[in-house]
This record gives sequence, structure tokens and C-alpha cells, in this order.
Amino acid sequence: MLEKIVPCKSEEKIKEDLLKLVTLAKKELQATDAVIIPASKVVVDERVKMKCAVPRCFNYGSCANCPPYTPDVETVRNTISKYSYAIVVKRNVTPVEHFADRTSSLTNAKVHEREFAQIIAKLENAAFSAGYYLALGLAGGSCRNYLCNDKVCQYLDSGRCRYIRIARPSVEAYGIDAFQLAVEAGWDIYPIGPQHVSPKEVPLALNVGIVFIT
Ligand code: SF4
Repeated sequence: MLEKIVPCKSEEKIKEDLLKLVTLAKKELQATDAVIIPASKVVVDERVKMKCAVPRCFNYGSCANCPPYTPDVETVRNTISKYSYAIVVKRNVTPVEHFADRTSSLTNAKVHEREFAQIIAKLENAAFSAGYYLALGLAGGSCRNYLCNDKVCQYLDSGRCRYIRIARPSVEAYGIDAFQLAVEAGWDIYPIGPQHVSPKEVPLALNVGIVFIT
């Protein structure tokens, strides 16, 4: 849908467009679910971003879309406060071992994260074309891992991202609490961490992202 930019859309029109975008996410882009929430429900927390550094992720400081290069949490909070709505998106990861089994997850998780980033980028683009030109999408994982296959980040190296149309920062890189987002959307989610839990004990795994619309 391509729509003319107008000075102000009615609440009714905005809600109608949001529902169309949710349908697009679920029916065409293959998201498992997508839920509209007030942007004010999105929690930005300094501790989330700190978890990128403790324990230090191997993408910390190595990817232009990861901390410490992402905006400070106060800027993120101020930015989000300008939006009224967001669409929270999830995609179930099957088999769950692709996230939960640490012996294979480094290889397999990136495939799911790449596909999920494409969903978020396409949804953001669809919102843009529908007249919501400030739509802003955040996915999950590090694009250095899921797109650049752990090569040197070309943006940090030479100022040119290899995958500008797909690469999106993760919600967590912006200090947004992805677990809380999933709970706010009404989804089950488990803290799948390294080592301590057998993959057989993990009921489900998911990618979680968000597109701020207006
Ligand atoms: S896609 Fe690659 S080049 Fe672009 S920001 Fe991510 S790591 Fe850097």
C-alpha cells in the first residue's frame, strides 16, 4: 500500500492501517504473531544494554549496530516517547535446539535471526510506504553475526554497511527489554541462556522485534 502523506491521520485510520500491517506481518511475512501495543508500554532499561557488556558479547564494540555504538538509553527513551504505537513481532524458532543447544546455536541461530531481520525490515518498509515515514524497526541478534558471518563490520572499517537494507539493530542493543515486550504482547518466553538448562527442558524459543509506527 502506497499512500499520500497527509498532515494528520485520524485515530480510526491509524488503527485500520496498523491492523493491515499486522495482517501483512502474519500472512505474508510469516511472522508467528504480531501485536499492536502503545509505545508507552515499551520498557527501556540501562541494565539491558549493560548485559551486552557483562558477560561481554563477542559483537560488543565490533558491530556498528551493537553497543557501545548504539544511542544512549536516554536518547532511545526520548525517541520512543514521540511514538504512539508499535507492533511487536515474534517468530517461533523451530527446532528450539537452534537457540537452546549451545553446541549448534552459533551456527543455526543466525539463520533464524537473518530471516527475522528481513521480516522487520519489510514491515518497516511497508509502514513507510503507507505514509508512516518515521517507522523504525528493531530486530534481534547482531547483524555482524547473522549477515556478515562474523567478518569485520564494514561500516566500522570503511563507513559502508554491506547490508544496509536488511541490517537492523536489536531491541536489546537499544536497551529495550525483549522479555518484557513478549510478556506485554501476551506470549510465553523463557530465558534461554548458556549451559545451565538442557535443550530438552526448553518448551519454546522465539525471535522478538518491534516496529514503532507513529
Ligand atoms: S551488516 Fe555487517 S557491515 Fe552492516 S553494520 Fe552489520 S556488521 Fe556492519
